[in-house]
Amino acid sequence: MLWSGWGDPAKARELPEQIRDLLRDLLGVRAPGTPAASLESVSLPPVALSGPRLDALAEVVGAEHVLTGHEARVRHTRGKSTPDLLRMRAGDGSDAPDAVVLPGSHDEVAELLRLCSRERIAVVPFGGGTSVVGGLAAARAGFAGVIALDLARLDRLRSVDAESMVAEFEPGVRAPDAERLLAAHGLTLGHFPQSFEYATLGGFAAARSSGQASAGYGRFDDMVVGLTLVTPSGTLALGRAPKSAAGPDLRQLVLGSEGAFGVITSLRLRVRRAPAERRYEGWRFASFAAGSAAMRALAQEGPLPTVLRLSDETETMIGLAKPDAIGSGGSGGSGGSGCLLIAGYEGARVGDRHAAASAVLARTGGEPLGPEPGQAWEHGRFSAPYLRDSLLAAGATVETLETAGFWANLPRLYDAVRLALLGALGSPLVMCHVSHVYETGASLYFTVVTPQDADPVAQWERAKEAVNAAIVEAGGTISHHHGVGRDHRDAYAAEIGPVGAAVLRAVKAELDPAGILNPGVLVPEG
Ligand SMILES: Cc1cc2nc3c(=O)[nH]c(=O)nc-3n(C[C@H](O)[C@H](O)[C@H](O)COP(=O)(O)OP(=O)(O)OC[C@H]3O[C@@H](n4cnc5c(N)ncnc54)[C@H](O)[C@@H]3O)c2cc1C
Repeated sequence: MLWSGWGDPAKARELPEQIRDLLRDLLGVRAPGTPAASLESVSLPPVALSGPRLDALAEVVGAEHVLTGHEARVRHTRGKSTPDLLRMRAGDGSDAPDAVVLPGSHDEVAELLRLCSRERIAVVPFGGGTSVVGGLAAARAGFAGVIALDLARLDRLRSVDAESMVAEFEPGVRAPDAERLLAAHGLTLGHFPQSFEYATLGGFAAARSSGQASAGYGRFDDMVVGLTLVTPSGTLALGRAPKSAAGPDLRQLVLGSEGAFGVITSLRLRVRRAPAERRYEGWRFASFAAGSAAMRALAQEGPLPTVLRLSDETETMIGLAKPDAIGSGGSGGSGGSGCLLIAGYEGARVGDRHAAASAVLARTGGEPLGPEPGQAWEHGRFSAPYLRDSLLAAGATVETLETAGFWANLPRLYDAVRLALLGALGSPLVMCHVSHVYETGASLYFTVVTPQDADPVAQWERAKEAVNAAIVEAGGTISHHHGVGRDHRDAYAAEIGPVGAAVLRAVKAELDPAGILNPGVLVPEG
């Protein structure tokens, strides 16, 4: 993973000439961004942990699994939001942990949490490091130091129960490895977020992730049938049946807990048969409203495709649903005006489901565009984040944000977010797609591009604050799938109200009395 950007550096993309023209002519981007600092020149605070404390950590996991070197600390500084990347590009490593600690077992994690509670060492659980909500930067005040608890060594598939269709994993397994391990059994999870290449199963559970095929396979929190959470107060082992009426479902308290209540050390996940057939295609709708109505019909009447997304007019024009084709001579969009909808079908009865869903799409005003747009989307489905680095270097800020609401409120939410962005940034390019649908509502996923001013981090933070307030005011949730972290904590507090915030603080006090776990993340201050 590129330490100051996204993904495999070998896959980095030059900006096509057409995008450069667009940045200059449409957005007024004139000057390139500040060049990225070199890894060696990133400025880090001195290691705050004393020698005896580092020795005590090493006694638990082995000295070779406690890293205090420059590169390890840089690579565990923050996550991968655009402000995170801008800070790293500027050589600002002020949020670096003092040490990176890699436990090799559940018992070692438990021992580390006891030790860190005693010694007042803050612990940031670290999966793939792809958080985009500030979920990996601990508030250090009052602590003897901060460690990143990297779960990379907990990377095994423990068991497969083919009868119940349940697989048990350790949390540090990356998504492509999970798919590879399951493929050997003819199975799949079907979880494909855009961060697929690097994110881990533990991170998906801790942040309630949702993937591109969640219409068919479900959100990640739908897949979790059981889990183990180690806390400084002891271990929670949850999930002895698929559903239960034995009180509140405590699994739900762990899902989305973002490392603030404990460390997930195992996950039992519902799996599906690997699909024998896949079919993706495009449809055009006259407007975003018409396409949204078609999606609602599919969500409420069925059948729901496995993949379903609808770009608004601007996103369709730019061609963001087909990132590999952006700038390739006008073929990036759907080849016409209106809004592009991508529908994909995987698994059983593909032909029947395709026929039935296509009848709904045609009845609701869709024009079939055939397989090409669907295949182009599939080909470029993990490419868009690579463009971000090139845009940052070219002097544009690009960032994404998301929310969800009930169908009846969706147009209001859409307008509120757009207006907040326009108000805060002047005339940015704002694109949106409906990324996930449910019977009762949907999520909206926005991509924003704007010229960088002299302080692009502060510029984006102002915009983000305005959007957060607009989402709360318009009745949406502050996150459909990115989570809360530090960036959404205040808006989350407003969403759940003072009683909700007090419940979270009470849970935190019970499970983590010394408050060492991910301080500053998720749980609103009292
Ligand atoms: C380019 C890009 C595209 C993205 N696309 C999507 C998308 O399509 N859908 C989506 O849902 N998200 C997406 N994300 C966000 C991110 O990938 C998800 O939030 C993901 O779930 C994080 O997984 P991770 O392993 O990287 O976790 P990390 O970023 O390492 O951690 C996330 C949070 O969970 C905590 N945590 C991690 N592991 C554990 C554990 N074992 N126990 C307890 N706490 C833990 C961390 O402390 C942190 O607060 C994207 C991010 C990027 C950068």
